[in-house]
Amino acid sequence: MYFIVGRTAFSLLITSLCAVLGHLLGLWWWGPLNWGAWIGAGIGVVLAGVRDGLRGHRVLEWLRSGHSTGAPRYRSAWGELAYRIERALVLRDKALTGEQQRLAEFLSAIEASPNGVLMLDAKGHITWCNSVAADHFGLDPERDRGQRVTNLVRMPAFVELLQAPPQAEPVTLLFQPLGLMLSILVRSYGQGLKLVLSQDVTERHRAEGMRRDFVANVSHEIRTPLTVLAGFVETMASLPLTDAERQRVLGLMTQQTRRMQTLVSDLLTLAQLEGSPRPMADHWVELADLLAQVAGEAHGLSQGRHRLGFPADEEVAGVQIGGAQSELLSAMTNLATNAVRYTPEGGSIDITWCTRDSGEGVYEVRDTGVGIERQHLPRLTERFYRVDGSRSRETGGTGLGLSIVKHVVQRHGAQLEVDSEPGKGSSFRIVFPAVRLRRSA
Ligand code: ADP
Repeated sequence: MYFIVGRTAFSLLITSLCAVLGHLLGLWWWGPLNWGAWIGAGIGVVLAGVRDGLRGHRVLEWLRSGHSTGAPRYRSAWGELAYRIERALVLRDKALTGEQQRLAEFLSAIEASPNGVLMLDAKGHITWCNSVAADHFGLDPERDRGQRVTNLVRMPAFVELLQAPPQAEPVTLLFQPLGLMLSILVRSYGQGLKLVLSQDVTERHRAEGMRRDFVANVSHEIRTPLTVLAGFVETMASLPLTDAERQRVLGLMTQQTRRMQTLVSDLLTLAQLEGSPRPMADHWVELADLLAQVAGEAHGLSQGRHRLGFPADEEVAGVQIGGAQSELLSAMTNLATNAVRYTPEGGSIDITWCTRDSGEGVYEVRDTGVGIERQHLPRLTERFYRVDGSRSRETGGTGLGLSIVKHVVQRHGAQLEVDSEPGKGSSFRIVFPAVRLRRSA
């Protein structure tokens, strides 16, 4: 208001000045009766109008230029208008920046989610997705924005899921070629918009598969000797047997019972290894004692059918390994008895110990046995994995030995290394880290 009154007063002043000037000039030119005052006033009005028009033009120019510079400052209605517009724009920009910041924070919170989040518009075009969803569906969060998702993820089951009415429960789908098992939940919101939530359940699925396989394997391993035992019991109950026959049947029954005992004992060992904390390195076990027990087991199993070699006493005297005695013994014996079991009569087995320059200690079992083909090597430590099932069972194997070895090795911070050549023999090594070794005085 102040500006409008001021501006009007200023225009009136100019007009009046021009009128007075015009009157004076008119007096000089025409005498007392003249039009000078009117002409002067007219010129004053035109000058005020032109000045006002120019200012209006500048304000318009400023608005058209995207108001990147400050608004023109005039002590007039135009100045007031430009100032008010400028203030409104500043307030709007501030509010917008605040909103954008809140949106960015919200999106980065979704981005931090371990699950995939994919937002679709009513036509199934991608409006936004986080990087987890991009990895799950093989999308590019920037490049693919605005694209129809079914053009990019062409899996029929996924397309069907998007088109079906939203389900309350997530659906699990296998996404090739990445081989991901994804649990997908589609939710509708707003005006036909869709939210696709994805979770990678590949590992869980694999673990469930392994658990199922494990239960099936255990059942199978126990059922076989049980069936044999049941058959023998029936035979003994229904047939009159001579003493010799009874002895033979009892011998076979004992064999099957031992097989079940070994299996249950291996299963318990595995369960204990998986469920107990890692053994501390502050309990020291004499390597010589361990080797003596390993030698006893190996000789007992071989019954003189193989040549067995062990490190000389002075090589291992004083060497101690930090860990759990029973576990170390179990792992070292397993490797030695495997060598005996998979080496034909007349073959040789060498058990050695050496300390590397790095301070690591290597327990090695080398045999001249049947060997293992290359493709089996990565799977040897899987539970119940056998290269030759019948040979394993014939020699009393449970398929769990190397699995136990792997657990013990891991729990002691060691490494298991295997080299093998079919028909020539194998070498299994446990490499203990320097921190788990010491030499007593
Ligand atoms: P198993 O009780 O069947 O011996 P392991 O877990 O100890 O089970 O071994 C897994 C498989 O690895 C065995 O079935 C066998 O085929 C193979 N294997 C293990 N040790 C040797 C070895 N020294 N020589 C040849 N094959 C071996």
